[in-house]
Amino acid sequence: MINIAIVGSGPSGCYIADMLSKKVADAQVDIYDRLPTPFGLVRAGVAPDHQGTKNIVRQFERTLTRDNVRFVGNVNIGTDLSYDELKAEYDVVALTIGALKDRTLGIPGEELAGVYGSGEFVAWYNGHPDQADLNPDLSGNAVAIIGNGNVALDISRILAKTAAEMNSSDITADAQTAIDASPVQDIYLIGRRGPVEASFTNAELSEFGELERCVALVDPAQLPAGVPENLDPKAAKAIEKNLETLRGYAANNTDSKPVRLHVMFCASPLEILGDNGKVCGLKLEKNKMIDGRPQATGDTFQLDVQTVIPAIGYRSEAIEGMPFDDQRGIVRNEGGAVEAGVYTAGWCKRGPQGVIPANRADAMAVAKQIIADLEANTPAGDSQGFAATGELLRQRGIRIVSFADWQQINQAETERAENGKLREKFNRIDDMLALL
Ligand SMILES: Cc1cc2nc3c(=O)[nH]c(=O)nc-3n(C[C@H](O)[C@H](O)[C@H](O)COP(=O)(O)OP(=O)(O)OC[C@H]3O[C@@H](n4cnc5c(N)ncnc54)[C@H](O)[C@@H]3O)c2cc1C
Repeated sequence: MINIAIVGSGPSGCYIADMLSKKVADAQVDIYDRLPTPFGLVRAGVAPDHQGTKNIVRQFERTLTRDNVRFVGNVNIGTDLSYDELKAEYDVVALTIGALKDRTLGIPGEELAGVYGSGEFVAWYNGHPDQADLNPDLSGNAVAIIGNGNVALDISRILAKTAAEMNSSDITADAQTAIDASPVQDIYLIGRRGPVEASFTNAELSEFGELERCVALVDPAQLPAGVPENLDPKAAKAIEKNLETLRGYAANNTDSKPVRLHVMFCASPLEILGDNGKVCGLKLEKNKMIDGRPQATGDTFQLDVQTVIPAIGYRSEAIEGMPFDDQRGIVRNEGGAVEAGVYTAGWCKRGPQGVIPANRADAMAVAKQIIADLEANTPAGDSQGFAATGELLRQRGIRIVSFADWQQINQAETERAENGKLREKFNRIDDMLALL
Protein backbone atom coordinates (compact mmCIF):
# COMPACT_ATOMS: atom_id res chain seq x y z
CA MET A 1 0.00 0.00 0.00
CA ILE A 2 1.14 3.55 -0.71
CA ASN A 3 0.31 5.79 2.24
CA ILE A 4 -0.37 9.43 1.41
CA ALA A 5 -1.00 12.11 4.04
CA ILE A 6 -2.59 15.42 3.15
CA VAL A 7 -2.47 18.17 5.76
CA GLY A 8 -5.51 20.46 5.41
CA SER A 9 -8.97 19.57 4.10
CA GLY A 10 -9.66 22.83 2.24
CA PRO A 11 -10.19 22.88 -1.54
CA SER A 12 -6.50 22.22 -2.31
CA GLY A 13 -6.33 19.16 -0.03
CA CYS A 14 -9.61 17.78 -1.38
CA TYR A 15 -8.56 18.26 -5.03
CA ILE A 16 -5.23 16.48 -4.45
CA ALA A 17 -6.98 13.67 -2.55
CA ASP A 18 -9.45 13.28 -5.39
CA MET A 19 -6.78 12.78 -8.01
CA LEU A 20 -4.37 10.63 -5.98
CA SER A 21 -7.09 8.35 -4.62
CA LYS A 22 -8.20 7.66 -8.20
CA LYS A 23 -4.89 7.55 -10.02
CA VAL A 24 -2.37 5.95 -7.66
CA ALA A 25 -2.75 2.18 -7.53
CA ASP A 26 -3.17 0.77 -4.03
CA ALA A 27 -3.19 4.23 -2.45
CA GLN A 28 -4.60 5.09 0.97
CA VAL A 29 -5.13 8.84 1.29
CA ASP A 30 -5.49 10.30 4.81
CA ILE A 31 -6.57 13.95 5.07
CA TYR A 32 -5.65 15.53 8.40
CA ASP A 33 -7.27 18.74 9.62
CA ARG A 34 -6.77 20.57 12.85
CA LEU A 35 -10.53 21.22 13.02
CA PRO A 36 -13.25 18.59 13.50
CA THR A 37 -14.90 20.15 10.42
CA PRO A 38 -13.60 19.74 6.86
CA PHE A 39 -13.45 22.11 3.83
CA GLY A 40 -11.17 24.90 5.12
CA LEU A 41 -12.17 28.37 3.96
CA VAL A 42 -15.22 27.11 2.11
CA ARG A 43 -16.72 26.82 5.58
CA ALA A 44 -14.73 29.49 7.41
CA GLY A 45 -13.94 32.13 4.75
CA VAL A 46 -16.51 32.21 1.94
CA ALA A 47 -19.24 34.65 2.98
CA PRO A 48 -22.21 33.13 4.85
CA ASP A 49 -24.65 34.75 2.39
CA HIS A 50 -22.86 33.25 -0.64
CA GLN A 51 -24.20 29.74 -0.27
CA GLY A 52 -23.98 28.97 -3.98
CA THR A 53 -20.17 29.07 -3.72
CA LYS A 54 -20.27 26.61 -0.84
CA ASN A 55 -22.04 24.00 -2.98
CA ILE A 56 -18.60 22.80 -4.04
CA VAL A 57 -18.53 20.79 -0.81
CA ARG A 58 -20.88 18.23 -2.45
CA GLN A 59 -17.98 17.34 -4.72
CA PHE A 60 -15.50 17.23 -1.83
CA GLU A 61 -17.88 15.00 0.16
CA ARG A 62 -17.74 12.44 -2.65
CA THR A 63 -13.95 12.40 -2.37
CA LEU A 64 -13.90 12.18 1.41
CA THR A 65 -16.30 9.23 1.46
CA ARG A 66 -14.31 7.18 -1.05
CA ASP A 67 -13.14 3.79 0.33
CA ASN A 68 -9.46 4.67 0.17
CA VAL A 69 -9.80 8.18 1.63
CA ARG A 70 -9.91 8.87 5.39
CA PHE A 71 -10.71 12.18 7.11
CA VAL A 72 -8.59 12.56 10.24
CA GLY A 73 -10.15 15.61 11.87
CA ASN A 74 -9.28 17.41 15.09
CA VAL A 75 -5.57 16.64 14.64
CA ASN A 76 -3.19 19.59 14.50
CA ILE A 77 0.02 18.73 12.67
CA GLY A 78 2.72 20.49 14.62
CA THR A 79 1.18 20.04 18.06
CA ASP A 80 -0.83 16.77 18.22
CA LEU A 81 1.47 15.02 15.77
CA SER A 82 4.77 16.49 14.60
CA TYR A 83 5.70 17.09 10.98
CA ASP A 84 8.60 14.63 11.38
CA GLU A 85 6.32 11.94 12.85
CA LEU A 86 3.97 12.32 9.90
CA LYS A 87 6.81 12.16 7.37
CA ALA A 88 8.21 9.04 9.03
CA GLU A 89 4.99 7.06 8.59
CA TYR A 90 3.90 8.13 5.10
CA ASP A 91 5.34 7.67 1.60
CA VAL A 92 4.00 11.06 0.51
CA VAL A 93 2.98 14.16 2.47
CA ALA A 94 1.11 17.05 0.80
CA LEU A 95 0.86 20.29 2.77
CA THR A 96 -2.32 22.24 1.99
CA ILE A 97 -2.63 24.24 5.20
CA GLY A 98 -3.88 27.46 3.62
CA ALA A 99 -3.10 30.96 4.90
CA LEU A 100 -5.29 32.68 7.43
CA LYS A 101 -2.94 34.65 9.64
CA ASP A 102 -3.61 38.34 9.06
CA ARG A 103 -0.99 40.57 7.54
CA THR A 104 -0.65 43.79 9.48
CA LEU A 105 -0.52 47.37 8.18
CA GLY A 106 2.66 48.20 10.08
CA ILE A 107 1.37 51.58 11.28
CA PRO A 108 1.01 53.03 14.79
CA GLY A 109 -2.21 52.16 16.61
CA GLU A 110 -2.70 48.62 15.35
CA GLU A 111 -2.59 47.33 18.93
CA LEU A 112 -5.64 49.41 19.95
CA ALA A 113 -8.91 47.77 21.00
CA GLY A 114 -11.25 47.95 18.03
CA VAL A 115 -8.74 46.79 15.39
CA TYR A 116 -9.48 43.34 13.94
CA GLY A 117 -7.71 41.60 11.08
CA SER A 118 -10.10 40.51 8.34
CA GLY A 119 -9.09 36.87 8.91
CA GLU A 120 -10.13 37.13 12.55
CA PHE A 121 -13.32 39.01 11.75
CA VAL A 122 -14.42 36.68 8.95
CA ALA A 123 -13.57 33.64 11.10
CA TRP A 124 -15.73 35.12 13.88
CA TYR A 125 -18.88 35.58 11.82
CA ASN A 126 -18.29 32.23 10.12
CA GLY A 127 -18.04 30.29 13.40
CA HIS A 128 -14.35 29.29 13.24
CA PRO A 129 -13.42 28.01 16.74
CA ASP A 130 -10.24 30.15 16.81
CA GLN A 131 -12.37 33.31 17.00
CA ALA A 132 -15.36 32.13 19.03
CA ASP A 133 -14.42 34.67 21.70
CA LEU A 134 -13.47 37.60 19.47
CA ASN A 135 -16.56 39.57 20.49
CA PRO A 136 -15.63 42.54 18.26
CA ASP A 137 -16.59 45.98 19.47
CA LEU A 138 -19.14 47.28 16.98
CA SER A 139 -20.57 49.87 19.35
CA GLY A 140 -19.44 52.87 17.32
CA ASN A 141 -21.26 54.40 14.37
CA ALA A 142 -18.39 54.20 11.88
CA VAL A 143 -16.15 51.36 10.68
CA ALA A 144 -13.14 51.54 8.34
CA ILE A 145 -12.35 48.51 6.21
CA ILE A 146 -8.98 48.73 4.55
CA GLY A 147 -8.43 46.90 1.29
CA ASN A 148 -9.93 46.76 -2.17
CA GLY A 149 -10.47 43.05 -2.67
CA ASN A 150 -13.53 40.82 -2.37
CA VAL A 151 -12.81 40.05 1.29
CA ALA A 152 -13.16 43.77 2.12
CA LEU A 153 -16.44 43.82 0.18
CA ASP A 154 -17.69 40.68 1.97
CA ILE A 155 -17.10 42.26 5.38
CA SER A 156 -18.72 45.55 4.35
CA ARG A 157 -21.77 43.72 3.00
CA ILE A 158 -22.19 41.50 6.08
CA LEU A 159 -22.10 44.62 8.29
CA ALA A 160 -24.54 46.43 5.99
CA LYS A 161 -27.18 43.75 5.55
CA THR A 162 -30.26 43.40 7.73
CA ALA A 163 -31.01 40.18 9.62
CA ALA A 164 -33.79 39.49 7.09
CA GLU A 165 -31.27 39.76 4.26
CA MET A 166 -29.13 37.16 6.05
CA ASN A 167 -31.92 34.57 6.02
CA SER A 168 -30.76 31.49 4.12
CA SER A 169 -27.21 32.18 5.25
CA ASP A 170 -25.14 30.35 7.86
CA ILE A 171 -23.79 33.33 9.79
CA THR A 172 -23.53 32.46 13.50
CA ALA A 173 -26.33 33.65 15.77
CA ASP A 174 -23.75 35.46 17.97
CA ALA A 175 -22.43 37.44 15.03
CA GLN A 176 -25.88 38.29 13.68
CA THR A 177 -27.00 39.50 17.12
CA ALA A 178 -23.91 41.70 17.47
CA ILE A 179 -24.36 43.16 13.97
CA ASP A 180 -28.07 43.80 14.56
CA ALA A 181 -27.25 45.62 17.80
CA SER A 182 -24.56 47.78 16.19
CA PRO A 183 -25.45 51.42 15.55
CA VAL A 184 -23.09 51.56 12.56
CA GLN A 185 -24.14 54.14 9.97
CA ASP A 186 -20.97 54.74 8.00
CA ILE A 187 -18.77 52.04 6.51
CA TYR A 188 -15.61 53.30 4.81
CA LEU A 189 -14.10 50.96 2.26
CA ILE A 190 -10.59 52.29 1.65
CA GLY A 191 -8.18 51.35 -1.12
CA ARG A 192 -4.67 52.76 -1.52
CA ARG A 193 -4.93 52.49 -5.28
CA GLY A 194 -7.57 53.73 -7.73
CA PRO A 195 -10.77 52.17 -9.10
CA VAL A 196 -8.89 50.89 -12.16
CA GLU A 197 -6.47 48.91 -9.99
CA ALA A 198 -9.04 47.63 -7.45
CA SER A 199 -9.04 43.84 -7.29
CA PHE A 200 -12.69 43.31 -6.34
CA THR A 201 -14.96 41.73 -8.92
CA ASN A 202 -18.15 43.20 -10.30
CA ALA A 203 -20.49 40.51 -8.96
CA GLU A 204 -19.45 41.46 -5.41
CA LEU A 205 -19.32 45.23 -6.03
CA SER A 206 -22.74 45.42 -7.64
CA GLU A 207 -24.43 43.66 -4.70
CA PHE A 208 -24.32 47.03 -2.90
CA GLY A 209 -26.82 48.38 -5.40
CA GLU A 210 -29.51 46.11 -3.98
CA LEU A 211 -29.22 46.34 -0.22
CA GLU A 212 -32.22 47.15 1.94
CA ARG A 213 -30.76 49.62 4.43
CA CYS A 214 -27.41 50.58 2.86
CA VAL A 215 -26.61 52.98 0.03
CA ALA A 216 -23.22 52.86 -1.70
CA LEU A 217 -21.53 56.18 -2.41
CA VAL A 218 -18.39 57.28 -4.20
CA ASP A 219 -16.95 60.71 -4.96
CA PRO A 220 -17.37 61.15 -8.75
CA ALA A 221 -14.04 63.01 -8.82
CA GLN A 222 -12.33 59.71 -7.99
CA LEU A 223 -13.63 58.00 -11.13
CA PRO A 224 -11.69 58.24 -14.41
CA ALA A 225 -13.57 58.97 -17.62
CA GLY A 226 -12.65 55.59 -19.07
CA VAL A 227 -10.38 52.58 -18.99
CA PRO A 228 -6.69 53.22 -19.75
CA GLU A 229 -5.52 52.20 -23.20
CA ASN A 230 -3.28 49.19 -23.96
CA LEU A 231 -4.94 46.93 -21.42
CA ASP A 232 -5.67 43.29 -22.09
CA PRO A 233 -9.28 43.32 -23.47
CA LYS A 234 -10.59 40.96 -20.77
CA ALA A 235 -9.12 43.11 -17.97
CA ALA A 236 -10.39 46.28 -19.68
CA LYS A 237 -13.92 44.86 -19.84
CA ALA A 238 -13.88 43.94 -16.12
CA ILE A 239 -12.62 47.42 -15.18
CA GLU A 240 -15.22 49.12 -17.37
CA LYS A 241 -17.95 47.12 -15.65
CA ASN A 242 -16.70 48.20 -12.22
CA LEU A 243 -16.50 51.83 -13.36
CA GLU A 244 -20.07 51.65 -14.63
CA THR A 245 -21.26 50.31 -11.25
CA LEU A 246 -19.24 52.97 -9.41
CA ARG A 247 -20.71 55.73 -11.61
CA GLY A 248 -24.12 54.53 -10.49
CA TYR A 249 -23.00 54.77 -6.85
CA ALA A 250 -21.62 58.28 -7.48
CA ALA A 251 -25.14 59.36 -8.49
CA ASN A 252 -26.78 57.93 -5.35
CA ASN A 253 -28.46 60.15 -2.79
CA THR A 254 -26.48 60.21 0.49
CA ASP A 255 -29.55 60.25 2.69
CA SER A 256 -31.61 57.69 0.85
CA LYS A 257 -30.88 54.91 3.38
CA PRO A 258 -29.77 54.82 7.02
CA VAL A 259 -26.40 53.13 6.38
CA ARG A 260 -23.81 54.43 3.94
CA LEU A 261 -20.97 52.56 2.29
CA HIS A 262 -18.32 55.13 1.29
CA VAL A 263 -16.11 53.64 -1.40
CA MET A 264 -12.84 55.59 -1.17
CA PHE A 265 -9.82 55.24 -3.43
CA CYS A 266 -6.21 56.47 -3.40
CA ALA A 267 -5.78 56.76 0.37
CA SER A 268 -3.24 55.00 2.61
CA PRO A 269 -3.70 54.67 6.36
CA LEU A 270 -0.92 56.42 8.30
CA GLU A 271 -2.06 55.93 11.88
CA ILE A 272 -4.94 54.46 13.85
CA LEU A 273 -5.82 57.05 16.45
CA GLY A 274 -6.71 56.03 19.99
CA ASP A 275 -8.35 57.35 23.10
CA ASN A 276 -7.93 55.38 26.35
CA GLY A 277 -6.61 52.38 24.43
CA LYS A 278 -9.59 52.33 22.01
CA VAL A 279 -9.82 53.33 18.37
CA CYS A 280 -11.28 56.80 17.84
CA GLY A 281 -10.11 57.63 14.34
CA LEU A 282 -7.99 56.87 11.32
CA LYS A 283 -5.44 59.20 9.79
CA LEU A 284 -4.90 58.75 6.07
CA GLU A 285 -2.79 60.23 3.31
CA LYS A 286 -4.08 60.82 -0.20
CA ASN A 287 -2.23 59.11 -3.04
CA LYS A 288 -2.00 59.81 -6.72
CA MET A 289 -1.55 56.97 -9.16
CA ILE A 290 1.63 57.04 -11.26
CA ASP A 291 2.07 54.18 -13.75
CA GLY A 292 -0.37 52.04 -11.79
CA ARG A 293 1.41 52.65 -8.47
CA PRO A 294 0.21 54.79 -5.57
CA GLN A 295 2.41 57.74 -4.71
CA ALA A 296 1.92 59.64 -1.44
CA THR A 297 0.95 63.30 -1.88
CA GLY A 298 1.56 64.52 1.70
CA ASP A 299 -2.08 65.58 1.86
CA THR A 300 -3.61 63.98 4.97
CA PHE A 301 -7.13 63.68 6.37
CA GLN A 302 -8.92 61.96 9.22
CA LEU A 303 -12.00 59.79 9.61
CA ASP A 304 -13.87 59.43 12.89
CA VAL A 305 -14.20 55.67 13.16
CA GLN A 306 -14.37 53.36 16.16
CA THR A 307 -13.54 50.07 14.47
CA VAL A 308 -10.80 49.34 11.91
CA ILE A 309 -10.62 46.12 9.90
CA PRO A 310 -7.54 45.76 7.69
CA ALA A 311 -8.27 43.29 4.85
CA ILE A 312 -4.86 43.32 3.23
CA GLY A 313 -3.92 39.67 2.93
CA TYR A 314 -2.73 36.69 4.87
CA ARG A 315 0.27 34.51 5.68
CA SER A 316 0.53 30.81 6.36
CA GLU A 317 1.58 29.67 9.81
CA ALA A 318 4.82 27.73 10.02
CA ILE A 319 4.71 24.18 11.40
CA GLU A 320 7.83 23.22 13.36
CA GLY A 321 10.34 21.43 11.13
CA MET A 322 8.53 22.33 7.89
CA PRO A 323 10.59 24.38 5.40
CA PHE A 324 9.08 27.87 5.54
CA ASP A 325 9.67 31.10 3.64
CA ASP A 326 9.16 33.58 6.45
CA GLN A 327 9.37 36.63 4.23
CA ARG A 328 6.59 35.52 1.91
CA GLY A 329 4.68 33.66 4.61
CA ILE A 330 4.39 30.45 2.54
CA VAL A 331 5.72 26.89 2.67
CA ARG A 332 9.17 26.98 1.03
CA ASN A 333 8.83 25.12 -2.26
CA GLU A 334 9.93 24.88 -5.85
CA GLY A 335 6.93 24.44 -8.08
CA GLY A 336 5.16 22.54 -5.28
CA ALA A 337 8.11 20.32 -4.25
CA VAL A 338 9.17 20.93 -0.63
CA GLU A 339 11.62 18.13 0.18
CA ALA A 340 11.90 14.39 -0.59
CA GLY A 341 8.36 12.97 -0.50
CA VAL A 342 6.81 16.28 0.61
CA TYR A 343 4.77 18.60 -1.60
CA THR A 344 2.55 21.64 -1.22
CA ALA A 345 -0.38 23.26 -3.03
CA GLY A 346 -2.94 26.02 -2.67
CA TRP A 347 -2.70 29.21 -0.66
CA CYS A 348 0.19 27.96 1.50
CA LYS A 349 2.18 27.32 -1.69
CA ARG A 350 1.32 30.40 -3.78
CA GLY A 351 0.21 32.88 -1.14
CA PRO A 352 -3.38 33.93 -0.44
CA GLN A 353 -4.53 34.57 -3.98
CA GLY A 354 -7.07 32.96 -6.18
CA VAL A 355 -10.58 31.67 -5.88
CA ILE A 356 -11.50 28.03 -5.28
CA PRO A 357 -11.14 26.89 -8.93
CA ALA A 358 -7.61 28.34 -9.06
CA ASN A 359 -6.62 25.79 -6.42
CA ARG A 360 -7.91 22.97 -8.59
CA ALA A 361 -5.45 23.66 -11.39
CA ASP A 362 -2.65 24.09 -8.89
CA ALA A 363 -3.53 20.90 -6.99
CA MET A 364 -3.82 18.92 -10.24
CA ALA A 365 -0.32 20.00 -11.31
CA VAL A 366 1.15 18.99 -7.95
CA ALA A 367 -0.75 15.67 -7.93
CA LYS A 368 0.65 14.91 -11.40
CA GLN A 369 4.14 15.58 -10.12
CA ILE A 370 3.55 13.26 -7.14
CA ILE A 371 2.36 10.51 -9.49
CA ALA A 372 5.40 10.94 -11.74
CA ASP A 373 7.75 10.84 -8.75
CA LEU A 374 6.04 7.69 -7.38
CA GLU A 375 6.42 6.03 -10.77
CA ALA A 376 10.10 6.95 -10.96
CA ASN A 377 10.77 5.86 -7.40
CA THR A 378 8.24 3.29 -6.23
CA PRO A 379 8.06 3.08 -2.41
CA ALA A 380 8.96 -0.24 -0.75
CA GLY A 381 5.39 -0.65 0.51
CA ASP A 382 6.35 -0.93 4.17
CA SER A 383 5.07 2.42 5.43
CA GLN A 384 2.58 2.27 8.33
CA GLY A 385 0.52 5.41 7.68
CA PHE A 386 -2.52 5.79 9.92
CA ALA A 387 -1.92 2.43 11.65
CA ALA A 388 1.06 4.13 13.34
CA THR A 389 -0.11 7.77 13.60
CA GLY A 390 -3.59 6.77 14.80
CA GLU A 391 -1.98 4.75 17.59
CA LEU A 392 0.25 7.68 18.58
CA LEU A 393 -2.74 10.03 18.64
CA ARG A 394 -4.78 7.62 20.75
CA GLN A 395 -1.88 7.32 23.22
CA ARG A 396 -1.85 11.13 23.41
CA GLY A 397 -5.56 11.25 24.18
CA ILE A 398 -6.50 13.04 20.95
CA ARG A 399 -10.12 12.46 19.89
CA ILE A 400 -9.85 11.83 16.17
CA VAL A 401 -12.92 13.02 14.28
CA SER A 402 -13.83 10.78 11.34
CA PHE A 403 -15.94 11.75 8.36
CA ALA A 404 -18.90 9.89 9.89
CA ASP A 405 -18.40 11.99 13.05
CA TRP A 406 -18.40 15.14 10.93
CA GLN A 407 -21.65 14.04 9.30
CA GLN A 408 -23.16 13.85 12.78
CA ILE A 409 -21.96 17.40 13.56
CA ASN A 410 -23.25 18.54 10.18
CA GLN A 411 -26.68 17.08 10.83
CA ALA A 412 -26.89 18.63 14.31
CA GLU A 413 -25.91 22.04 12.88
CA THR A 414 -28.62 21.86 10.23
CA GLU A 415 -31.25 20.64 12.67
CA ARG A 416 -30.70 23.42 15.18
CA ALA A 417 -30.85 26.24 12.59
CA GLU A 418 -33.62 28.79 13.14
CA ASN A 419 -35.07 31.85 11.40
CA GLY A 420 -34.66 30.52 7.89
CA LYS A 421 -30.92 29.96 8.31
CA LEU A 422 -29.34 26.92 6.71
CA ARG A 423 -27.29 25.84 9.69
CA GLU A 424 -26.28 27.06 13.11
CA LYS A 425 -22.59 26.28 13.35
CA PHE A 426 -20.95 25.06 16.52
CA ASN A 427 -18.07 27.46 17.03
CA ARG A 428 -16.49 25.55 19.93
CA ILE A 429 -14.62 22.29 19.47
CA ASP A 430 -15.77 21.00 22.88
CA ASP A 431 -19.41 21.40 21.83
CA MET A 432 -18.73 19.47 18.62
CA LEU A 433 -16.96 16.65 20.47
CA ALA A 434 -19.69 16.50 23.12
CA LEU A 435 -22.13 15.50 20.37
CA LEU A 436 -20.17 12.45 19.32
C1 LIG B 1 -12.88 35.80 3.47
C2 LIG B 1 -12.68 34.94 2.25
C3 LIG B 1 -13.72 34.81 1.34
C4 LIG B 1 -13.54 34.02 0.18
N1 LIG B 1 -14.57 33.93 -0.70
C5 LIG B 1 -14.43 33.18 -1.80
C6 LIG B 1 -15.50 33.04 -2.74
O1 LIG B 1 -16.59 33.61 -2.55
N2 LIG B 1 -15.31 32.26 -3.84
C7 LIG B 1 -14.13 31.59 -4.04
O2 LIG B 1 -14.02 30.87 -5.06
N3 LIG B 1 -13.08 31.73 -3.20
C8 LIG B 1 -13.20 32.48 -2.08
N4 LIG B 1 -12.15 32.62 -1.22
C9 LIG B 1 -10.88 31.95 -1.54
C10 LIG B 1 -10.90 30.46 -1.16
O3 LIG B 1 -11.44 30.31 0.12
C11 LIG B 1 -9.47 29.91 -1.26
O4 LIG B 1 -9.06 29.99 -2.60
C12 LIG B 1 -9.34 28.46 -0.80
O5 LIG B 1 -10.05 28.18 0.37
C13 LIG B 1 -7.87 28.09 -0.56
O6 LIG B 1 -7.83 26.70 -0.34
P1 LIG B 1 -6.68 25.97 0.47
O7 LIG B 1 -7.09 24.54 0.50
O8 LIG B 1 -5.36 26.30 -0.11
O9 LIG B 1 -6.71 26.58 1.95
P2 LIG B 1 -7.85 26.56 3.07
O10 LIG B 1 -9.20 26.59 2.47
O11 LIG B 1 -7.50 27.64 4.02
O12 LIG B 1 -7.68 25.16 3.82
C14 LIG B 1 -6.60 24.92 4.69
C15 LIG B 1 -6.99 23.84 5.71
O13 LIG B 1 -5.81 23.45 6.41
C16 LIG B 1 -6.14 23.24 7.79
N5 LIG B 1 -4.92 23.39 8.58
C17 LIG B 1 -4.17 24.50 8.74
N6 LIG B 1 -3.11 24.25 9.53
C18 LIG B 1 -3.19 22.95 9.90
C19 LIG B 1 -2.37 22.11 10.71
N7 LIG B 1 -1.27 22.57 11.34
N8 LIG B 1 -2.76 20.81 10.87
C20 LIG B 1 -3.87 20.32 10.27
N9 LIG B 1 -4.67 21.10 9.48
C21 LIG B 1 -4.32 22.38 9.28
C22 LIG B 1 -7.18 24.31 8.06
O14 LIG B 1 -7.97 24.02 9.20
C23 LIG B 1 -7.98 24.30 6.76
O15 LIG B 1 -9.05 23.38 6.85
C24 LIG B 1 -12.30 33.37 -0.05
C25 LIG B 1 -11.26 33.51 0.88
C26 LIG B 1 -11.44 34.28 2.03
C27 LIG B 1 -10.33 34.43 3.02
